[in-house]
Amino acid sequence: MSVRAGIVITGTEVLTGRVRDLNGPWLADQLLELGVELAHITQCGDRAEDLTAQLVFLAGQNVDLIITSGGLGPTADDLTVATVARFYGRDLVLDDALEQRIAAILRRLGAGRPGVDFDAVMAANRKQAMVPVGAQILEPVGTAPGVVLYSEHQPTVVVLPGPPRELQPMWSTAVATDGVQRAIAGRTRYLQRTVRMFGLPESGLAETLREAQFQVAGFDNLEITTCLRRGELEIVTRYEPDAADSYTALVELLRERYPRELFSEDGSLIDDQVAGALAGRTIATAESCTAGLLAARLADRAGSSAYLAGGVVSYSNEAKIELLGVDEALIAQHGAVSEPVARAMAEGALARFGADTAVGITGIAGPGGGSEQKPVGTVCFGLAVAGSDTVARTLHLPGDRSDVRERSTTVAMHLLREHLGSTQLP
Ligand code: ATP
Ligand code: MG
Repeated sequence: MSVRAGIVITGTEVLTGRVRDLNGPWLADQLLELGVELAHITQCGDRAEDLTAQLVFLAGQNVDLIITSGGLGPTADDLTVATVARFYGRDLVLDDALEQRIAAILRRLGAGRPGVDFDAVMAANRKQAMVPVGAQILEPVGTAPGVVLYSEHQPTVVVLPGPPRELQPMWSTAVATDGVQRAIAGRTRYLQRTVRMFGLPESGLAETLREAQFQVAGFDNLEITTCLRRGELEIVTRYEPDAADSYTALVELLRERYPRELFSEDGSLIDDQVAGALAGRTIATAESCTAGLLAARLADRAGSSAYLAGGVVSYSNEAKIELLGVDEALIAQHGAVSEPVARAMAEGALARFGADTAVGITGIAGPGGGSEQKPVGTVCFGLAVAGSDTVARTLHLPGDRSDVRERSTTVAMHLLREHLGSTQLP
């Protein structure tokens, strides 16, 4: 049986696009994991009438669960709890104990400091302790409590705060409540697995999946979504546990067809794999068109100081010559975007940082600067590993300037994975 949910994102700042909605996508993912089918995500501003209209709409869609985000603060435009209560025909009552708990939080946050009128702060926050009769309270993560309203005849409503750092921890508390458990009882449980591929076009994969229809028994029981992310293909499959053999057969087919391109069968990211491969090594970067994006990507991970020595942003020819020791004649002869220069950049970074692994990237991100021989999107990579011959690669990457720069980092990561997997440190 399928259990359906709808999400209402409230808040004028989100509606107008000044703040990007992080809660809708995050909740969508959580629902998927729970096995709840998401029917709608809607957005409205801070007006009570608009939120009511969303609740009416979703209830009319026969969803079992409605989740709201935002509008739980102490100010006058924070109306979600009162609006949801009215929709359900429930009164609001002051929960004294909850008010005390909010007061304690506010005191801890410094509302009791000299010069701050604690009573005024408390009066504003009393509103947050007004809860609908019969609601289950979700303890505040910030200062605002959430609520769960269960009813036999209407969808269960989960009211969550807007700030993502408050909403996310409160969601797991909400899921554990009776109200939500009753609403989602009887849902079909799904397994979800992710594999990742690199170096093949989406159309090639689509073709393979069409063929898989005839080659994989029970293929129709697999719900497959593919998506291109950062130049890699992500294939997410959802299935009921008894379709596990079909999924295994699908992965076998992909492995057989794309032994080089299929790099992750457990959903692990290339960044995870490179971090693993860099254990015990020291890496340096020499970046021209990416101007530090690769170094930043490597540094994204906690613990990267164990292997990341540093990088040089060598955008100009002078920087390549002065900072990395690239031979001026090499640039004159082959051009700044060339394999010999990419190699020399990597070797320069290796020497400069005393590293054992180094990547050089030089390319034409566009929109200007392309030529017939080297069109926009031409990017040369060099990989220097102590004790091995330096390798170079040239790729023609599609997309606009930011796509080319971003994808260049992905290519560099795959180059690292490929070579570090097979070379040992001297
Ligand atoms: P507060 O007590 O902070 O007012 P609230 O529950 O009333 O919390 P909102 O007033 O709707 O929440 O939003 C407060 C802030 O939280 C917004 O200004 C925004 O920075 C962030 N926020 C709210 N909703 C979202 C969202 N959907 N995605 C990302 N950030 C959000
Ligand atoms: Mg608010």
